[in-house]
Amino acid sequence: MSRIETKCIQEGWKPKSAEPRRMPIYQSTTFAYEDCFSMAQYFELKSSDHIYTRISNPSFEAVEAKITAMQGGVGTMITGSGMSATFAAVVNIAHAGQNIVCSSEVYGGTFNLFNKTLPELGIETRFFTPADSDEYIETLIDQNTRLIFGETLSNPSLSVFDTERYAALAHKHNIPLMMDNTFPTPVKCNPFDFGCDIIVHATTKYMDGHAAAMGGAVIDSGNFNWKASGKFPELCTPDESYHGVVYCEDFGNAAYIAKCRAHIMRDIGMTPSPFNAFLLDLGLDTLALRMDRHCENGQAVAEYLSKHPKIKTVNYPSLKDNKYYDLCMKYMPKGTCGVVSFEIEGGREAAVEFMEKLKIGKIMTHVADSCTCVLHPASTTHRQLSDQQLIDCGISPSMVRMSVGIEHIDDILEDLENALK
Ligand SMILES: *Cc1c(COP(=O)(O)O)cnc(C)c1O
Repeated sequence: MSRIETKCIQEGWKPKSAEPRRMPIYQSTTFAYEDCFSMAQYFELKSSDHIYTRISNPSFEAVEAKITAMQGGVGTMITGSGMSATFAAVVNIAHAGQNIVCSSEVYGGTFNLFNKTLPELGIETRFFTPADSDEYIETLIDQNTRLIFGETLSNPSLSVFDTERYAALAHKHNIPLMMDNTFPTPVKCNPFDFGCDIIVHATTKYMDGHAAAMGGAVIDSGNFNWKASGKFPELCTPDESYHGVVYCEDFGNAAYIAKCRAHIMRDIGMTPSPFNAFLLDLGLDTLALRMDRHCENGQAVAEYLSKHPKIKTVNYPSLKDNKYYDLCMKYMPKGTCGVVSFEIEGGREAAVEFMEKLKIGKIMTHVADSCTCVLHPASTTHRQLSDQQLIDCGISPSMVRMSVGIEHIDDILEDLENALK
């Protein structure tokens, strides 16, 4: 079962004889035991049976297995939202007094988490832009740097993260590369193939795909050698809260994801609901099919807009004249996603007027699901940013972000045509 289209459907829940074909929703907070010993085993991390849904649940386990099969790696932990996945992934290995190094072209929520909330907890974030040299980025890395972070395809500026370049920089300093792979999904890009060590997803977006369920995922490639790096005692020395478990020894190359669940999920509880896990599993069945259509429609919209006189610039990485075209062909040769951003002649007012005239394209704080929608980043998702921060994030005041859905392309293009008139 090596092809992604098949994995989307066949991996994860595997019914035994006469069990339900569809993954059941285990809507229960807790699990009953017949003896005290079996349950006590969990508290020593010697059993992976389920005891309490804050930490694990059979519905989560099935979706997690499907996502691991799709993206690769040694294990997945799903969470209640994309933001909580990113938070868990970072604080699993970064603590007060330490720092992380991050691309400035990231999702607005991630930017704020890294720029405000983490510093309040004592974790500093040092931002770089895609234009910065390796030498400059290396000046940001010191003994207390724990990871480099970036987005495969940034939301909303759609720049392509040069994964191999940043993986080499991270590994030179014995730290992992962590990436948010939300936009291309496991169907269109596998950063693990290019040296990325940890992946996070907002499954809220294409993976659920129907604007129905919030969710996130953290995936461990199993490739980073925490022990050899010498920088991660939390994974390589005894954890007193589990009677001296040493994650690197007890869980081998799945140490990171084991700790993420046993420690961060246990203590913070960013748990999804079993029902949302079911919706995610259902959504994943058609992910490959949907992504093909999103990319086809996205490309058609980008090409249409780039020929339109009222459009100043169009940003879609697989357009031949896009500055990320070569990187796009390297990392995402089979397509990127359905998100296209563009600037309209006439500035902020023209952008707003255009958006309000669209009929199919709804104005929503969302991207990446089956229906076409539009958003004005400067006045919404990135509202809290200063003008300089906006420029660093690759956003202009007249930029519109359009998430092209899977409706018929002729209807989408007609809608654009009418609104631009
Ligand atoms: C939406 C999004 C997130 C946050 O996900 P939520 O489920 O909304 O918390 C993180 N990263 C990217 C790239 C996103 O688009």
